[in-house]
Amino acid sequence: MSDFLVIDQVSKSFDSSPVVDSVSMTIRQGEVFSLLGPSGCGKTTLLRMLAGFIRPDSGRLFLNGKDITDLPPEKRPVNTVFQNYALFPHLNVQENIAFGLQMAGRSRAFIAHEIERMLTLVKMMDYAHSLPAQLSGGQKQRVAIARALINQPQVLLLDEPLAALDLKLRQHMLSELSAIHREVGTTFIYVTHDQEEALSLSDRIAVMNQGCVEQIDTPRALYNDPVNEFVAGFIGDANLMLGIVRERCGENLFLVEVTGWGGVLAQASVELELDRKSTRL
Ligand code: ATP
Repeated sequence: MSDFLVIDQVSKSFDSSPVVDSVSMTIRQGEVFSLLGPSGCGKTTLLRMLAGFIRPDSGRLFLNGKDITDLPPEKRPVNTVFQNYALFPHLNVQENIAFGLQMAGRSRAFIAHEIERMLTLVKMMDYAHSLPAQLSGGQKQRVAIARALINQPQVLLLDEPLAALDLKLRQHMLSELSAIHREVGTTFIYVTHDQEEALSLSDRIAVMNQGCVEQIDTPRALYNDPVNEFVAGFIGDANLMLGIVRERCGENLFLVEVTGWGGVLAQASVELELDRKSTRL
């Protein structure tokens, strides 16, 4: 199922400024895939195109081989969890969670069964009758996740879902999200500008910059083998040094002169030019 969700040369401009610029990527069924990049790089716009809230100017989107580019949001087997929860304030927790199934006209017995399953999944059994205003941020986000999952979407889109939470709660919710993903196995697409969140949660990450994809890889590969200076700086900002390549010592091993450090042995997966110009390690 390697071609589960295909984004094919998708572009979007606002006021004639390109915000997403011919982006292509393939997301596998069941993986946690993050869109990671600095503020304004276009990751939320790309997510909103997957949800169907924004139409691409060009390019196509395919889910399970079917072209979904022109489908309205409600016709896509996709649900979104928003940063601000977007719960109905006048409905209690179980009514919020039930909403999607009620709209789909499912039977009372089925809805009751599914509510219980979802409340258990997000550990909110004791709060079934609470109103959103009576919940903490983390609890509201659990309800939002349950509400988005109850319809069994093929893809769950998460738009910076933990950004409004404090650091400790964010770390706790990250492990909860991993546990929920393990339980349901739904494909998660997770938008964040937080490197640690993306690295700890994701199977693979697309690093974005100014509307383009810089690299798509596993967290380990991004960290150990960034393809360029932007990815290296964005993923692990303390490990960039400027130097001149002096000698080739092995297939991928170079002696590099670094100011203040003298000669440093460096591994490189790309060909480096001897003496010719400075390189970043
Ligand atoms: P953040 O992490 O801050 O949410 P992002 O990477 O998700 O950033 P987007 O929300 O996709 O970025 O926005 C990318 C750019 O597009 C920004 O410069 C933003 O101002 C602009 N933009 C987004 N939506 C619109 C819109 N509806 N109309 C005009 N410009 C928009």
